Amino acid sequence: MRPPLEGVVLVTGASSGIGRALAREVAPRCSALVLVARRKNELEALADELRARHPKLRVLVAPCDLNDRAQVDEVLLDVQREFGVVDVLINNAGFGDMSLFDLSDWDRNQRMIDLNVTALAYLTHRLVGPMVTRGRGGILNISSGFGLAFLPGFATYIATKHYVTGFTEALRLDLTGTGVVVTQSCPGPVATEFASHTGNFTGQEIPSILEISAEQCARESLRAFELDRALVVPGVVAWVLMFLNDLTPRPIRRLLMAQAAPHLRQLQEKSRAGAP
Ligand code: NDP
Repeated sequence: MRPPLEGVVLVTGASSGIGRALAREVAPRCSALVLVARRKNELEALADELRARHPKLRVLVAPCDLNDRAQVDEVLLDVQREFGVVDVLINNAGFGDMSLFDLSDWDRNQRMIDLNVTALAYLTHRLVGPMVTRGRGGILNISSGFGLAFLPGFATYIATKHYVTGFTEALRLDLTGTGVVVTQSCPGPVATEFASHTGNFTGQEIPSILEISAEQCARESLRAFELDRALVVPGVVAWVLMFLNDLTPRPIRRLLMAQAAPHLRQLQEKSRAGAP
């Protein structure tokens, strides 16, 4: 079964990073693109670029805070008026936060849960029914390697991505035999704005050997989607790490990860106190 990348594709978080790369990658193949994120200028610049490259492509710029249900409903109404249906939903928008949970900011946790979990589930719920009725369509969820693992310093982010991973696996089962494709991508580090928004207090950069480009992440995610794969880990190094993670018994992973926690706590407490 080939998902209908030639139809109407809605990409969330299209104003930067992986979402923008996904939009660029699907643009030559689909008939219409809906670009969703908060930053209107970035979305319009991308829309201009894509229209210039693909004159037949119809692009709807849909500035929207996905944490605001009324704005999401308004976007879905615009999409219905403009294109009728959505053939492929790419749930990509998301953000992370580095903090030990007891030291974290609740409002930020709430926004992360609202975006990474609630908005993703709500959009899927709104759009998947008509796909099932038509017997075709697809959902590509950008989860994370953190959806397959656990480590200290990211409790809420990890929990949101475990939701995406569990949700996507279960949704795929629910939709067996309906003609609707469901795939998730679980990347390791990708070179985007993401890391700069996580509040990294360690002073450590991500080793470049671990990092892949947004373009590679988009290409490998879409390839898996087109092959109707349940899950892809883009990038060889991340794939190997996830493979080793899967092979390691959970009690051993707990022991290993626990070693890092006290050091992280020290670093975060120092950083909060403004100490060098
Ligand atoms: P970016 O920060 O570059 O992109 C995040 C996107 O989400 C932006 O387009 C942003 O647009 C959008 N967004 C954020 N908040 C909202 C909101 N409230 N409403 C609408 N849109 C919103 O990061 P990435 O491209 O790296 O992240 C994309 C996805 O990939 C995320 O789900 C992330 O968890 C996942 N991921 C990223 C990894 C990485 O290392 N980069 C690794 C593994 C997974 P705007 O600010 O304009 O609203």
